[in-house]
Amino acid sequence: MKIRDLFGHSDKTFSFEFFPPRDEVSAVDFGINVGQLIKLNPSFVSVTYGAGGSGQEKTFTLVDFLQNKIGLTTMAHYTCVGSNREKIFNDMQYLQKLGIENLMLLRGDPPAGSVSFQAPKDGFSHASDLIRFVRDNYDYSIGGAAYPEKHPEAPTLEEDIGHLKEKYQSGSDFLITQLFFNNEAYFSFVKLARERGINCRIIPGIIPITSYAQINRFANMTAAHIPHELHEKLEEYKDNPDKIYQAGIDFSIGQCRDLLEKGAPGIHFYTLNKSRAAVEVFESLNL
Ligand code: FAD
Repeated sequence: MKIRDLFGHSDKTFSFEFFPPRDEVSAVDFGINVGQLIKLNPSFVSVTYGAGGSGQEKTFTLVDFLQNKIGLTTMAHYTCVGSNREKIFNDMQYLQKLGIENLMLLRGDPPAGSVSFQAPKDGFSHASDLIRFVRDNYDYSIGGAAYPEKHPEAPTLEEDIGHLKEKYQSGSDFLITQLFFNNEAYFSFVKLARERGINCRIIPGIIPITSYAQINRFANMTAAHIPHELHEKLEEYKDNPDKIYQAGIDFSIGQCRDLLEKGAPGIHFYTLNKSRAAVEVFESLNL
C-alpha cells in the first residue's frame, strides 16, 4: 500500500524506523524486537540506508523481508550518496519488482572528515533533485526529511524552509522530521511551512529517551535542543540508569501526547531496533 493512500483512511499514522542489523547476533535481537513492535499494528515501517551509501544490499534485503515475508507496508530509505542516475534508475526498478511502494528520499551526509556534500558524477546534490528524478520515472509514494530546528548546514531556518518547499514541489507526498524534544519548535516550524505553501503531512520523528549517553549523542548529532527541565532531570539521574530510563520514557510519553492533542498527524518512532521503550510509549497513548 502506498503511504499517501493510507492518509485517506486515517488522520494519524504511527510508524517505526529500523536500521539493517550489522551481523547475525544483532539479526536475532532485531527479530525479537521487531516481533514486539509488529504486535502494535503500525501504519508502516521504514528501513534506513547506510550512512555513506554503504550497506545498501542490507537495506534492500530487509525491506524485502518486512514487506513480503511479514506483510508490513514498508518504506525504503535511499540517498544520493554513491549513485549516478543510471544506478538510481536501476535500484528503483529493483525495489519496484520487490513490491516496495514507498521511499524516503534523502541527500545523505558528507563522508566523515568533509564539510560539504559532493554530488557523485552524474548524480544529485540535493534531495529535491533525487525526488524529482524518481517522481518523473516511477509511481512511488515519496517522503522527504524536514528539520524543525533547521538542517545543521543551513544558514537560517527561513532558507532551509525555502529548500524544503523545493522538496515538496519536486513530488514529496509527506515529510518526516528529524528528532526533536521541543514541541514548540515543531509547531512553529509547521506553521512556517504552511505559510510557505508546504501543504503535505509533516510527521514528527520522535526518539524515546532511554539513557544519558544516548540522548547526549543524538542531541549532538542533530543539534536538537534539550529543554531545560529535561536537561536538569537527566543531569540529576545521570548515574542511575533506571531513573534515567523512567524519566526519559515519562518525557517521551508527555511529548507524544502533547503532539497528538495539538494536531500532529501521527508519530514516526526512531526505534534504534529496540522495542521496549517504543512499546511503552506507544501503549501509553491508548490509541
Ligand atoms: P537536502 O534536502 O538536500 O538538504 C541538505 C542541506 O542542503 C540543507 O541544509 C538544505 O537547506 C540545503 N539545500 C537543499 N536544497 C538546496 C539547494 N537547491 N541549494 C542550496 N542548498 C540546498 N541519512 C542516511 O544516510 N540514511 C538514512 O536512511 C537517513 N534517513 C533519514 C530519515 C529522516 C526522517 C531524516 C530527518 C534524516 C535521515 N538521514 C539519513 C539523514 C540525512 O541524510 C541528512 O540529514 C542529510 O544531511 C540531509 O539530507 P536531506 O535529504 O535532508 O538533504
